[in-house]
Amino acid sequence: MSEVIPPRSGRAFRLGKGARLKVIDPQGEQVADLFAAFAGDTAEVMSSGRTFDYLEKIYLSVGDTIYSNRSQPLLTILEDTVGRHDFLLTPCSADTFRIIYGDRDPHRGCLGNLVEALAPYGIGANAIPACFNIFMNVELDGVTGKIAVKPPLSKASGFIVFRAEQDLIIGLTACSAPQSNNYSFKPIEFEILP
Ligand SMILES: [Zn+2]
Repeated sequence: MSEVIPPRSGRAFRLGKGARLKVIDPQGEQVADLFAAFAGDTAEVMSSGRTFDYLEKIYLSVGDTIYSNRSQPLLTILEDTVGRHDFLLTPCSADTFRIIYGDRDPHRGCLGNLVEALAPYGIGANAIPACFNIFMNVELDGVTGKIAVKPPLSKASGFIVFRAEQDLIIGLTACSAPQSNNYSFKPIEFEILP
């Protein structure tokens, strides 16, 4: 049974070592920001920089491992029907919408949703780094370094499956940024598999 994260909201939960997390895009073209921390010490969180360093690439898919800021493996991708995800950009936030979109009364974004969902685990905004942005399609110009946020490549029912390499606290959102989701906000589904 999969659980539904409504549009522009988030959830947090425990994922035991060895369990699998399946994240599904039920309608297509919807991003999900994934946060992970080591349950035993939540100061140990996912690190895009460490991961890029060890994998020697910025686009992750099957067989790739997400590392922590202390260089431990946290999650490994087992299945991936989409093949394009982003690990460069931080979770969208009220500041994102103020600075990029010019919103005067901005939505709290994925960051605000993650902060609320992760509060019971003692994880605050300052502990949330660049998240693994599932299904987010960021194109990179390898010469100039210019980046462009494009519509996700995920079709309806596209999914990705991770295996937990540690006991983890997970945060997961249905992303709130217009451009990242081709300007329509949709739900995300997830399933924890033993
Ligand atoms: Zn977002």
